[in-house]
Amino acid sequence: MSKNVLVLAESKDGELRNVSFEVIAAGKKIAGEGSVKALLVGENVASFSEQLIQQGADEVLVAEHSDLKTYTTDAYKQVLLQVIESESPDALLIPHTSSGKDLAPRLAAKLSSGLVSDVVDIEEVGEEVIFTRPIYSGKAFEKKSVSSGLVFATVRPNNIAALEVDSSRSGETKEVSVDLKDLRTVIKDIVKKTSGKVDLAEAKVIVAGGRGVKSADGFKPLEELADILGGAVGASRGACDAEYCDYSLQIGQTGKVVTPELYIAVGISGAIQHLAGMSNSKVIVAINKDEEAPIFDVADYGLVGDLFDILPILTEEFKKV
Ligand code: FAD
Repeated sequence: MSKNVLVLAESKDGELRNVSFEVIAAGKKIAGEGSVKALLVGENVASFSEQLIQQGADEVLVAEHSDLKTYTTDAYKQVLLQVIESESPDALLIPHTSSGKDLAPRLAAKLSSGLVSDVVDIEEVGEEVIFTRPIYSGKAFEKKSVSSGLVFATVRPNNIAALEVDSSRSGETKEVSVDLKDLRTVIKDIVKKTSGKVDLAEAKVIVAGGRGVKSADGFKPLEELADILGGAVGASRGACDAEYCDYSLQIGQTGKVVTPELYIAVGISGAIQHLAGMSNSKVIVAINKDEEAPIFDVADYGLVGDLFDILPILTEEFKKV
């Protein structure tokens, strides 16, 4: 088994996103005796090359241009198509992030290739690469392969473990010439709505609040707990609709899909649409005053009681650890 795999690395706010290391690990599962090349796209991103090599990339391709500083469909699609043409990879893996979800289907259409999206596991059976992805809002999983041409998938963050850092690894870094034509969109500036805290999609710990939190101020004890745990704050749509927090925090069927190692659901009833976004979390803790709340059906640990009593106790205890 030998495949040459191209993976797209993603950076944000001057740092590589964890999912970049996870797509390399995913690429290794496919490559066998072949190689994994990581593609860096952006402005001033070449310095990330060493990190990617230490985490398993055999070679790093760097596409730098001022018009690539921020993701746009148009520019990134052009770069990817040029690199795919020059490198002719057997397989292409892209992070299943907001930009990856936008880019991948457009590339697949342009390349007339198949695409398996939102992959959470990869295995090889002989020459065939089999991808596992959730369906029916995470209630079941299906296994899929791409029958011919480019083996193309997007990989869900926080599912395929990154490889250990190996500082003794070495690999080539190659500059890719970028030829951007007739760009229809150029991002001039980004006005951020949220603070520079942990990214919800990649957080290892999420403390999510629901309508039970009762007000915007009610989210403060959740923020304190999330800070102590190095996690992010999320929310149900109930809390967003009630204007306790911004919709960018919404988790669920019409919000973000997350798979952290620890999900603490606070004052969230556990509606099916909310479960669609978090039920694949590794450990779920529910805090709710109603012992009949459906969230307890998916929780590994349940705390029945008033969230405003329980959260300060948890925060104090975690401070001691
Ligand atoms: P509620 O259902 O009102 O639950 C509040 C909970 O807080 C209750 O269980 C209560 O016992 C508990 N509580 C109250 N006070 C306290 C206290 N002091 N201490 C402890 N517990 C307390 N929802 C999503 O979350 N995400 C989605 O993406 C989403 N998409 C949707 C898409 C569609 C098409 C539709 C129709 C609905 C969608 N919803 C979504 C909405 C969903 O159906 C629920 O209405 C919503 O999840 C309820 O939010 P909640 O659990 O915060 O509120």
